[in-house]
Amino acid sequence: MKVALLGGGITGLSVAWKLERKGHEVTVFEAGDRPGGLCRSETIDGYVVDHAGGHIIFSTDAEVLEFMLSVLGPGGAYKSERRARIFHHDRYVTYPFENGLGDLSPEHRFDCLKGYVEAWHTRKCGATEPTNFKDWCLWRFGDGICRHFMWPYNEKIWNVPLTELGTAWVRGRVPDAPVEDVLKAASGIKTVGYGHQAVFWYPTSGGFESVVKGVLSSLKTTKVRCATPVESVRRNQGTYEVNGEVFDRVVSTIPLPLLVKVLDAVPAEVAVATAGLAHTSLTTVFIALRNATVPDLSWVYFPHPADGPQNRVTFISNYAPNNAPTGCSSIMAEVTHLGAPSKSTEAIAAEVVDGLAGRGVLRHEDVAFTRTFSNRFAYILYESGIESRIETVRRFASEAGIDTVGRFGNYSYFNSDRCIRAAFDLAATYPDA
Ligand SMILES: Cc1cc2nc3c(=O)[nH]c(=O)nc-3n(C[C@H](O)[C@H](O)[C@H](O)COP(=O)(O)OP(=O)(O)OC[C@H]3O[C@@H](n4cnc5c(N)ncnc54)[C@H](O)[C@@H]3O)c2cc1C
Repeated sequence: MKVALLGGGITGLSVAWKLERKGHEVTVFEAGDRPGGLCRSETIDGYVVDHAGGHIIFSTDAEVLEFMLSVLGPGGAYKSERRARIFHHDRYVTYPFENGLGDLSPEHRFDCLKGYVEAWHTRKCGATEPTNFKDWCLWRFGDGICRHFMWPYNEKIWNVPLTELGTAWVRGRVPDAPVEDVLKAASGIKTVGYGHQAVFWYPTSGGFESVVKGVLSSLKTTKVRCATPVESVRRNQGTYEVNGEVFDRVVSTIPLPLLVKVLDAVPAEVAVATAGLAHTSLTTVFIALRNATVPDLSWVYFPHPADGPQNRVTFISNYAPNNAPTGCSSIMAEVTHLGAPSKSTEAIAAEVVDGLAGRGVLRHEDVAFTRTFSNRFAYILYESGIESRIETVRRFASEAGIDTVGRFGNYSYFNSDRCIRAAFDLAATYPDA
């Protein structure tokens, strides 16, 4: 079969990888000047930077993890233990926050523990699970953890009142330690939360994009057309025309709102549902440091606005020895916004640098240069009721004969491993050619 694949990110290329092994003739339409989407990276003056903030290889899916590592070839990946922290006023607190209570000041530790135990007791007494995220946090973690971390951090990353968010996305995404671990942590006994991410890998060279390049280089027959945005998809008696070219099947990995734009005869209810598919955008601020070190950490969350606009920084030079020139180091900061940023990217970068300098993470005089990267579709915004809107749009695409898959194809909070899994599962439903 001739298959048109819309979008050449990790999902599109993974679908292609499977389908060409089944004997199908695949053509990838990619709007960007090269494939990779959110997984793209750059090397600037010897510094490696990922376009969409800090990316790491990790997965509970053994087949997918093996796939991601194997496509890297002999260069392989550098393995690290996660050393993640939360910057809380004057100190680094171990991540996840509930596993780091022992690092807090005695007053804050008491505050968090008291609230946690009260919430635990309330749940045991049968309190109903709230359906909005703000109240859910209170129900799950208690008042102290909410005020010190969960609320400010989530307000910073999502940019909307937390009462507007639902909770369907939280499982597996919001670390959720057992009560014993929280009590141990508060008593000073070390515990590890979010265990499936406790160890991770990063490509030895070329940044996270090396995973994409690995998949790409093992494609033998697939045609990848870059700088070729999909402008129209028409169904025509059992076949499809993509930009006027005829195919037997269409798989879309581009964001659902962009897919709907290129389809014909969109019913009013689908248009309304599509308009309600919100997402946040991301500005990545890369900071190259000359002859300076960064803390021996993987990444740090910054919940408090006073510390700068970034919700997280990654010390990317710690991920692999070749990620920065000898004696130098680097930082990537993630700043999210709804729609276009309200300031210039230069102003955002300056605020990040000032925020980090103010907290002693870097010194202005060590900054060699900064670069920013804009990512329009970064996170799905899980507003209440979004599930039924996603279902309406995906059903419409499916009834039009188009398979939708990927982070913004499934419209789900997928990391690249889940994207690859979804790609493989979709390809498995195609017959052998
Ligand atoms: C801040 C942040 C941190 C993350 N950290 C991690 C991590 O540590 N580990 C991890 O595994 N994952 C991580 N992820 C998730 C990961 O980036 C995504 O899951 C993955 O890249 C999504 O791949 P995709 O192919 O589904 O989508 P995309 O990468 O968005 O690819 C879609 C492609 O479609 C193209 N396109 C759009 N419109 C058109 C059109 N009209 N015609 C043709 N092409 C079009 C785009 O150019 C793009 O290349 C992170 C994401 C973010 C935002």
